[in-house]
Formats: sequence, C-alpha cells, structure tokens
Amino acid sequence: MKNLYSKKIFRKFSAKYKKYRIPVELIERVYTSRLLGSDPRLVLHGGGNTSVKSISKDSDGESHEVIYVKGSGWDLSNIEPGGFPAVKINPLLKLLNKSHVSDEEMVDFIRKNLIDLSSPNPSVETLVHAIIKDKFVDHTHSNAILEICNRPNGKSLCQDIFGKDFLFVPYVMPGYRLAKKVHELYSDELNIKGMILYRHGIFTFGETSEVSYTRMINAVNKAESFIKNQNKNKIIKIRSKNIKFTSNEIAPLLRGYLCKKQNYILNFRSNKKILSDINNKNLKSILKRGVITPDHVIRTKPFPMVLNIDNCNSLRNLKNIFDKQFQKYRMDYIKYFNNNVKNNKTLILDPIPQIVVIQNLGIFSIGKSLNEAKINGDVSEMSIRTIGKIEERSHFQSIKKQDIFDVEYWSLEQAKIKKSPNQMTGKVVLVTGGAGTIGLATAKKFQQNGAEVIIIDKDRKKIENLASKNSIESLYCDITNRNFFKKVLEKICVTYGGIDILVSNAGAAIQSEMINISDQKLLESFNINFFSHQIAASESVKIMQSQKNGGCLLFNISKQSVNPGMNFGSYGTSKAALLALCKQYALEYGKFKIRSNGVNADRIESGLLTNEMIKKRAKSRNTSTEKYLKGNLLNLQVFAEDVAEAFYNLANSEKTSAAILTVDGGNIEASMR
Ligand code: ZN
Repeated sequence: MKNLYSKKIFRKFSAKYKKYRIPVELIERVYTSRLLGSDPRLVLHGGGNTSVKSISKDSDGESHEVIYVKGSGWDLSNIEPGGFPAVKINPLLKLLNKSHVSDEEMVDFIRKNLIDLSSPNPSVETLVHAIIKDKFVDHTHSNAILEICNRPNGKSLCQDIFGKDFLFVPYVMPGYRLAKKVHELYSDELNIKGMILYRHGIFTFGETSEVSYTRMINAVNKAESFIKNQNKNKIIKIRSKNIKFTSNEIAPLLRGYLCKKQNYILNFRSNKKILSDINNKNLKSILKRGVITPDHVIRTKPFPMVLNIDNCNSLRNLKNIFDKQFQKYRMDYIKYFNNNVKNNKTLILDPIPQIVVIQNLGIFSIGKSLNEAKINGDVSEMSIRTIGKIEERSHFQSIKKQDIFDVEYWSLEQAKIKKSPNQMTGKVVLVTGGAGTIGLATAKKFQQNGAEVIIIDKDRKKIENLASKNSIESLYCDITNRNFFKKVLEKICVTYGGIDILVSNAGAAIQSEMINISDQKLLESFNINFFSHQIAASESVKIMQSQKNGGCLLFNISKQSVNPGMNFGSYGTSKAALLALCKQYALEYGKFKIRSNGVNADRIESGLLTNEMIKKRAKSRNTSTEKYLKGNLLNLQVFAEDVAEAFYNLANSEKTSAAILTVDGGNIEASMR
C-alpha cells in the first residue's frame, strides 16, 4: 500500500479552505482522512473514524480543549471540516471513571458536550479517541489486519508482527465497553504507535497527521508483507459452469421470496474475480462462521445465503431449491436470534438474507434502496474476498455469535440504517415516455416518496440530458419495439431485482379528419398509443408474476377515449382501445394481485399538447386558448403535477382495480359512468 501523503498536494488542498478560517490541524485532519477513505482496503462506506485534538471557542467566546471527531453519516473519502463535530474533551474523560454507562447515555453525554449543538452525532468511538494522548488518531478496518486477526492464532501473530509498538486489545463490543477496555490498557508511557483491535481493526496515532497516517500505512504494509511471504493452502474450487438461468431471470424470483414483510431492492454483481472468490467448494460453511469485523453485520447479516444451482435444469426445480433454502435460512436466523437475544423487548429483524451468493453466477445484495443494496454488496464482496485469502493460508475464525448478535441488534448500529420508510420504499417504478412533461412529473412524485424510479423514452437527446443530471435513472428505449423493451427490462431486473409499478405513459397525438388520415398515420397512432402499452404491460406482468408479489399497471389514457374531439380520431380511437386494454389486464391478472388502473387527463400543457396544438384544439372547439385550458367545471387549469398525483394515488389504492380517474377539472361529457 502506497503512502500517498504529499506536502505539495496538502498545500494546495489547504488553500481551498483559507477563506473559511478553519484551524490548520482540522484541514490536515480532513486531508489524511480522505487519503484513508479513498482506499477500500482500509475502509468502506462510512467505516473507520479519525480525530484531532485542538482548542475551540463556544458561542460565549470561552475557549475549550476539544476533540474534532468524525461525525456519523460522513464518509472518510469525501469528508469536509463540517463532518468533524468538536466535543469538549475533559468531561469525556470523566465519564470513563464511572463503572458502567449505557451506549445511549454515552451518546447523549457526548452530544451535551458539543461546541455546536447542531453538529452531527460524533462517532461511537469518540471516547477511545479522547483517551489517546497524541494529537491525531486514525482508525480503519484494514483488510490485511483483519486477515491476520481472524485466524485461530490471530493474537500471537499480531503480537509477533507488531511487537511492542502496538497495544493488543482483545475483542470487546464497540462503544462504552471498548472505551473502558482501552482506558484500562492504554497509558502514555507505553510509547506506542497504535493499537490492534482484535478481530475489529487498527488504530494509529501521532503528533502530526502525516505521522499518524504513515504509521497506518506502515502497519498495513507490515501485515501485507507477512501474508505475502506465507505459503498458500490448496483451495478446492467447484468447476466453472454455465448456469441454465440468467441473473435477470433469477432476480425477480428471488425478490419474491424477500419481499414478504416489506419491499427490497435486489442488486446483482459478477465478474471473473467475484466468480473465483465464490466458487470455493466449502464457501457455505466458511461464511457461516461469521463476519470479519463487527461493523459488517448490519450490511451482510451474520451469514449470507449460499446456493449452488449448477445441476438445476427446470424452473420447477429452481423454485424447489429456493423454497427449501429460504425456509432453511429463516429457521437458521430465528435460531440464531433465539440463542443470543437477551431481553424479550428486542424484536427480530426480517429473517431474510441480505446477501445471496449463487456459485458460478454472482452475488445478489439486498437493501431498502438501490444505494443501500449496493453498499451491502460492496461490503460483502470485499469481505468474501478477505475470508477467501485467510482460508488460502489458514482458517477463518470470527468473533463469537453472541458478539456478532450484540452489534447487529445494537441500537447505535441500527440507527445507521434505520430511516423511517416512505410509502414507496423498496418499490421499483418504471415510467414510459418518462422524458415528457407528465412522465417526468410522475417519476419525480414517486421518487420523492422513496421509490426507485427508472424512466425510458425514445427521445434520445432528452434522455441523455436527464441521464447526465444523474438524479433519476434514464434509459433510451423505443417502446414500440418489443425486443428493445425486453432488453431494457432485463437490465432493470439485474440492477433492481424486478418491477412493481408500471406507469405506461408514452403517447403521441396526430390531428386529422377521419376520411383524410392515411392508414399509415393511423397505424402509427395505434403503435404508440395502444401497442406500446401492450408491450410494456405484457412484459412487465411476466416479471410481476415471477415476483409473486402483486403489481400495479397505470395507463395514461385520455378523456378522448370516452369523449372524442373533432379531427382527433386517430388519437381517440387508439386511446379507446387503450381503455379496453386497461380493463382487460384488470380482469385477467387480478388473481395475481396485479391491479390495472388508468388516468383520463385533459388539456395539460405538455410535449404532446404543445402551444401550437392548444391553439388548434381551442379553435376546433371555437374558444380562446385560455378558456380552452380552463374550460372545465372547476374553471381551473390542470397541470402535469395533478396527473402525477392521480397516478400516485392510484398506486396507493391497494383495493382499486379497473378504475379510471379523471384529471380534467371536471367535464360532464367526459365523466365516467
Ligand atoms: Zn471500528
């Protein structure tokens, strides 16, 4: 591992912060924290923490000795000075003289001693940082250190490799207990460079950020070179094989087993390296032993699900395997819970795996959002690799099951992942014609309420523009082409695990008198206003059926379907067919708990109803454009956001199917029976 510290780069880096009057040691702290955070072999996604001791003034202008320590919710790779709340250090040290303090009390106490009460919560390891006398303290979960710790002879190896330079701290639950342990073992007189936290990670310290960082890199290098010089055991790998099923076929099936209690996103990953890591013949029993550092349990659960479907030739067979394995996982998890739970107030978490490894295929990771699923996947990929390396040279051994459990059910860890779930959390919503005014408003509505939203559109320019903004997944697709749509849907299944709600919104309006419209133009209208909806709905319903978790189809129909307008026949006739399609899906797939509903909107300014077209439509109805847009019973103009609201409400109306909701400000002629 390379030492990336550079005085020259630091000078440039600190210049950016000059105008903010930030203490130089805090800028130094930010700089080396980022160096640590940028290497996934040291920390991953919010793991690890760092600190610096300094002086700070409170709002009354009184000076205090403080410790700036990483705030929770911040990631070392991109942390800013604001990510380091300042805590008065002297009261913290007094807290260590108590015989016991609960972790919740400790967090409250630390918060009370913040210089700025609006700061984020300081790390749960704040007390450990405060005990160390050196100015700078760095803590990581370095893979190389974990590779050495998590062996049967981990303790003696650590002592041999690091000697007297590093204090050896036996495994203790993070939080107040770990702080007490460090308080008991550490003394300034020891003259040490750092501490090895058995089966947890490593601390280094120093009077400058460079010294502390360099000590971290040197220690990791020492561990790495020890590992490199060891002979390797022979690992038996299963033969690589092409599995009969693809990841996009498997994903919706798996998702069906997972989304019983709530919805989850299922993200798939695979490559040569991953395949080599997961094809160990004994992978299942090895991974059952536990985690490499306690922090990982909230990402991976105490053990993943490991499957081998190499000889599975039929879908029935595959479902049988899944039935059995999910039942088994559930039983194993409940057993683990019952064996380790200490009080009856603790509620069991959803007894489903957070990671599903399919040998010869890849890793599926599960989360309440795509982001969470990806983080869980990153952590598990790295941890499976590290465990594999341990097995190559020794035997992987984890902390005790009880210790893993205590961290998994620790309120401070759960707080990291627990966000109040929005109504749409874990749901996958696909919007066709999503780059248009109504499509985009609808996509945003669902996204704001916690759903994962993908929009597709055949307007390539608009899609590329939206994709570059990166706020919503935008894919180019011509929805009138079934194969094109199927490919996009496969991609969605691999990334998200499936689909829950289809907003079938694509449409186009062509104006012409019936006797003058060419057959080709009429066909074109039917292609986009009817057949594209049939393609989207039929392919989406197949996925929904695999998931066995219901589903929701939402069609953007039009009031033209029941109340035709002059010279608008090609639009009205195709939309009338769409209305029938919406009802047909409600009829045929209700038994699968798949609902089908539509919205009849009217007179909304959009890409479809352009200014020019509004003028024409107004003229054909002998009225002004303003009157045309407000020409309804409520005398109110209707906007794309109103249509989005209707789609959203229909999606949430769990017991409504075959319904058409009008969004037109009230129009008796277009009202439904
Ligand atoms: Zn840690």
